Order: sequence, then C-alpha cells, then structure tokens
Amino acid sequence: LVEIRGLRKSFGTHEVLKGIDLVVHPGEVVCIIGPSGSGKSTLLRCVNLLEQPTAGTIRIGAMEVTDPDVDIDLVRRHVGMVFQQFNLFPHLSVLRNCTIAQDKVLGRKGADAERIARSTLARVNLDDKLDAFPAQLSGGQQQRVAIARALSMDPDLMLFDEPTSALDPELVGDVLTVMRRLADEGMTMLVVTHEMAFAREVAHRVVFMDDGMIVEQGPPEQVISAPTEERTREFLRRVL
Ligand code: ATP
Ligand code: MG
Repeated sequence: LVEIRGLRKSFGTHEVLKGIDLVVHPGEVVCIIGPSGSGKSTLLRCVNLLEQPTAGTIRIGAMEVTDPDVDIDLVRRHVGMVFQQFNLFPHLSVLRNCTIAQDKVLGRKGADAERIARSTLARVNLDDKLDAFPAQLSGGQQQRVAIARALSMDPDLMLFDEPTSALDPELVGDVLTVMRRLADEGMTMLVVTHEMAFAREVAHRVVFMDDGMIVEQGPPEQVISAPTEERTREFLRRVL
C-alpha cells in the first residue's frame, strides 16, 4: 500500500531524513521508535505532504505522492493523521468536528456526513459526547475525537504521531484500546510511539530510526526483545 524509496528531507543544510526505504502492506501496523530528533515526525509528515520531501519517492496505492503535479487534497483524503496535540476545532461540537472535513473535502453533506460521524464516534466509544465541545472533554476523549474525525474520511492509511504522549497516564489506555481495535479491524497504520507495550503487542513490524536512517526493523519480538544493532539496544535500555 505504501512504498517509500530513498526518501530524503533537509531543512536548510540540516539533513533530517537520509534515505528512508520503507514498505507498508495493506492491513499492516508498523510502529516507528527512536530517539528525539531522529526524524520520526518528519517521516510521517512527508507521507501526507505536510512536509515536501527533498528527494525520493512515496507511493500510496496508485497515488504517486511525490509527483509534483499530485493533488494534495486527494492524498489527504486517503491518509488520516492523528497528532500528539489533538488539533480539534475548539468552537465546534464533537459531532461537527467530525463532519466538517467530510463536507469541505469530500463534499459529503448533512445527514450522510452526520451518520458517518456518529458511527465513527461510536467506534471510539464517544457516542454520548456528540454535542460536547473539546474543552469539556478529557485529553483522552479529545484524542479519540481526533481519531474519529480522521476515520470519518474513510482513509486507506492512518498515521499516528505519538498520540498518547500528551495524555495523563490514566487516559492513555482508552486511546490505545481504540487503536488496538482499529488494528484488529485491518486498518493500515504507521504509528510513532514510545509505548513499547503497545508496539510489542500490536505492531506487525517495528522500525527503529536514529539520525534520519532506519537502523533496524523486524517483528517486535526481534527488534524490541532481541535487537541486533547496538544503537537499538542502547535506545531500548533508556526507554524500557
Ligand atoms: P521527537 O521524538 O522529539 O518527536 P522526531 O524523531 O519526531 O523527534 P523530528 O521532529 O522529525 O524528530 O525532527 C528531526 C529533526 O528535524 C530535528 O533536529 C528538528 O529540529 C528538525 N526539524 C523538524 N522540523 C523542522 C522544521 N520545520 N524546520 C527546521 N528543522 C526542523
Ligand atoms: Mg516527533
């Protein structure tokens, strides 16, 4: 589904991604781990063109994301993204947060958009909060609204950038439960996370990045439990 080849990204003279090759198959959950500044967020942001890659190619299904003539809206329509900060619209209700992009991007209006928003909000266990405003919700609830909002667009691929790092510890579990369910339903997911238990349990593959490169990748029982690279071992010693 996703094919990344020779991806490079520089900010000025600072090369942040130094040639990333990564393939994600349909229904696969890939967790990306690695130290701060290693380029994990930049990689995700290149996949949905929040950053313009400096070199390399990214393909999602039949779409060539790195084609200069690509329709950015079309890419974003197929790719949902959930950030550390939830980025909800504060002045819109939960339901409206989940219908507005359907309306603006897909042209899906009124009752149709609302029906889909209700069903995605039910999938994240928030069907009792349709009329609440973001400020009235806990961080975990807000993050689940952000997930529902992304799902309302029927994405082929979901990108998660440390979706639980801004949450109080007791709220992390609800969000991970929703993500685990999504994985079980066969959603293709690329997840940057520090939650090693989640990666170990849910990821089909774990990718360890350091200094703009993929150092090691494989099934979680290999990369997390028996890494072969010293840099991976050192990182895991610090986080586990
Ligand atoms: P963290 O775990 O702290 O989130 P990360 O692995 O996600 O780190 P990135 O956010 O991708 O790391 O950043 C990688 C490097 O790119 C950092 O050195 C950062 O300062 C730099 N960088 C990221 N975005 C920009 C930008 N818009 N302009 C300049 N430099 C940037
Ligand atoms: Mg980051």
